This record gives sequence, C-alpha cells and structure tokens, in this order.
Amino acid sequence: MVNLNGTHPEETLDPEDWQAMRALGHQMVDDMFSFLQTAPSRPVWQPIPGEVREHFLTPVPEQPAGAEAAYKDFVQDVLPYPMGNFHPRFWGWVTGTGTPLGMLADMLAAAINPNLAGGDHAPNLVEAQVVDWCKQMLGYPPEASGLLVSGASMANLVGLTIARNSRAGYDVRKQGVQGQTQRLTVYGSKEMHSSIQRAVEILGLGSNSLRLIPVNDNFEMDLEVLKIAITADKALGYQPLCIVGCAGTVNTGAFDDLNTIADLCEREGIWFHVDGAFGAMAALAPALRHLTVGMERADSLAFDMHKWLYVPFEAACALVRHPAEHYEAFTLTADYTTHARRGAAAGEVWFSDLGLQLSRGFRALKVWMSLKEHGTQKYGRLIQQNVEQVRYLADLIDTHPELERLAPAPLNIVCFRYQGEELDDEALNQLNVELLMLLHESGVAVPSYTRIGGKYAIRVANTNHRSHRADFDVLVQAVVEIGRRLVRERAAMR
Ligand SMILES: *Cc1c(COP(=O)(O)O)cnc(C)c1O
Repeated sequence: MVNLNGTHPEETLDPEDWQAMRALGHQMVDDMFSFLQTAPSRPVWQPIPGEVREHFLTPVPEQPAGAEAAYKDFVQDVLPYPMGNFHPRFWGWVTGTGTPLGMLADMLAAAINPNLAGGDHAPNLVEAQVVDWCKQMLGYPPEASGLLVSGASMANLVGLTIARNSRAGYDVRKQGVQGQTQRLTVYGSKEMHSSIQRAVEILGLGSNSLRLIPVNDNFEMDLEVLKIAITADKALGYQPLCIVGCAGTVNTGAFDDLNTIADLCEREGIWFHVDGAFGAMAALAPALRHLTVGMERADSLAFDMHKWLYVPFEAACALVRHPAEHYEAFTLTADYTTHARRGAAAGEVWFSDLGLQLSRGFRALKVWMSLKEHGTQKYGRLIQQNVEQVRYLADLIDTHPELERLAPAPLNIVCFRYQGEELDDEALNQLNVELLMLLHESGVAVPSYTRIGGKYAIRVANTNHRSHRADFDVLVQAVVEIGRRLVRERAAMR
C-alpha cells in the first residue's frame, strides 16, 4: 500500500482495536486460572500426537493471522502438552512449580518491558532489593554484591569467572588463559552438578583441571581425599583455584561440610564457591537451617529461585562476597553505555557490570512480588513440608518389600527402584528404565531418574508446593503395579 504522495502509511504493532485485545487478555487470564485450578484432574504428562507435531513444522507466517488465531493455536497445540511441572505429581529433575501471582508478575514485567542493564529506574531498584533480601534470607554478608541470572548454571559460571580472574595471579582479562603454563585446578565432589564442569570448560581451564573428589556413604565430599588432592597438585606446581561446596547435591540432596571447606579455603587462599541451586533455600526452614552452616562464608554463592522458591522460570541469583572483584571481572563500559550522574542513564548499580548479559529482563519482579505475597516464613514452611513429604515417601519405600531405596534421603530427594523378585542389577536396571517410561506415559506421575553406584534409580525431587501426601501414595501404588506387570511379562517370555 502506497499513498498518493509515495509514502507508506505509518504502522505499529499495537492493536487496531484495543477493546478486542483487552477482551482477549481477560480471556487468557481466565483460561489460565481455570487451567491451573483443574490441573490435578488431568494427566501430569501426555504424548504429543503426530498430527499436532506437524503443526510445528509449518513455515514462517508472512501474512497476519491475528492475535486471536495465535492464541487459538496456543490453546490447541501447546497447552494440552506441557511439561507438567505445575501438577501436584511432577517431581522430575529439580523443577519448580510456579505460582499464579508469578504468572501475573511475568505479564506485568513484559508490559513495562524495562531493560535491566542499568540506568535509573524503579525496576533496577526492585532487582537490587531482591538481591538484598536474598542476603538476608541466607545470612550472607550485607555488603556483598549480586545479580539475578537465568539459572544456577549461569550463577555458577559467574562465581567461577570471578574466582579465576581474581585468583589466577595475572590479568586474565588481558592475557586470557593462553599464556598460562601453571595449571589452575578446581575441586568438588563427584556428586557435583554438571554445570560446574561446563563452567570450567567455558572458562578455558579445561575439564582435566577439575578434580572430582569421592564422597562418603552420605554422598558428602571426602575432605581427607580433598586435602590430599590439593597437596598433590601443589607438589606438581599447579595452583589450586577454587573449591566448590555442594549445598544440596542434585542426585540425593546431600550437603558437603561447608564450614570445614571454608576453613580449608581460608588457610590455603583458595576461592570458596557454593552451589546451592535448590539446597540453599533450606536456610528458610528453621529445622533445616543447620545443614547450610558455612554457606554464608562462601566467596560466591549460586542458587535458583525457579526451583525451591517456586517462582516461574527463569530466576536465579549469584551472590559475591567481594564487590570490587565481582565488578572487575565483568565491567566493560563502552561509549554508548557510560553511566551518567543524573537522568535516565544514572543509577548506582548497573547490573550489566556484574554479569555477561547487557540487555536483561525484569525477572526480579516475580521474585519481589512473590516474597511480598507470602513472606519468607511461609516459604520456610513449604520447604519443610516438601522434606517431610519425602520422608513419608522414604518410609513407604522402606516398608514395601518390592521397593528398594538406593540412597539416604536427607532433604527433598529420594532415589529408589522396584526390585520385585530376585533379579540381578542389570535386569533391574532394564526393568526400571521401562517402568519409568510406562509411568510417564500413564500420566500418573513424573519422577525422573539417575544412577546411584551404577544402579538405575527412580528419583523424586520434591520442589512442588502443590503435592499432598496422598500424591506419594498414588506414586507408590502406580510403581508397584507397573513393576509387577513387567515382572509377569518377563516371566511369560522365559
Ligand atoms: C539444577 C541445578 C543446577 C543448574 O541450575 P539451572 O537453574 O538448571 O541452571 C546446578 N546445581 C545443582 C545442584 C542443581 O540442582
């Protein structure tokens, strides 16, 4: 369309009919509340039919279909086949549940759509306050710096980057790791999360520099072996850079002896990083807080809010005890991002100086509003509730002759398997792999899996504020039913 004078009419992406868009928005909000309210009566997960999958192969639209059509496609093709983690019987990996207010907060954040790179605006103050609240919740020093990031993987990378840059003993930002002849080594237990290895690799330290220290029967790092490894590396001329302590391991929820590790780091001048992805939040429950003792001594601390604070994805936080070293590791101010003294480009803290991202979303809002909505004490009670539910499940497992628990369950995670009759480990591994897939396909529950000492385990990680004890009864019943069926089929095949 070209006007008589040769120019195109000016356009916008705003609706031509605001009233219609408003009605559509109300419809969406209504639909989502109904969806969440009725979730328990639907399957946790269901497979995506082939014809629906094909809808995701259509070419990019060139012509408008309109907002209503776009929403209709969401309702038909996306909404019925979600991951399922809002459901009371989803306990896979470590996946938070989300909340209704968290959903609305994400909408509000998108409406005003600020960029939290920096500047003088209230959204930046919201993030700064959330960081302050995190320090208070976890007993971390008030003078520490911090920022919100996408997940604990990124928060671990932030911590390890500062460790490398501040402790390498030369200007890593300038020289890179190219000129380095002395190997910089990083320590953590065998149970440490894979994101630490990825950080070590991305930082150019190489996974050969990662020392995976064995664990004791409680899956806690063996500190005697740790000390021997450090001594051996120093004897080779290597430089021990960082020890990673686990506050809640992903497999079993174990806590390393963080206080003793902090002592060791202090003595040796080694950076102490704690990965508390979900376990850090145990500090909110008075009866669990003792597990986290020593965490507040970490040089850097990584944790998620989208796991055990139940806020919608994505939200996590990195806290750093040394604000100057934090800033020095990341700041890079270009002509077009210098900070002003007044006006919209002012602002005390620019979060882009503290992490990898320049443009940053307003993920702080859902955390800020959620903490206001419920207060920390309620979060502490829910975390305690999750732990007690897992103890309840562990008891069901321990008292059931056909089930076998495969690891201690000190927190909110339990690993077990169906053992049925006399089968060897290899046969049990095969049987439990099949069992878990059938369980998922049944739509009854979604735990995930891991291996404990080579044994395939069904793994329940409870960061779900919607679960009831009865949901764990349902799980046990379904596992036993499917297990028995598989054993019968096995016998019939022989
Ligand atoms: C989940 C998890 C991570 C990674 O966190 P993301 O939010 O998935 O990036 C790191 N460490 C532990 C112990 C975890 O459970």
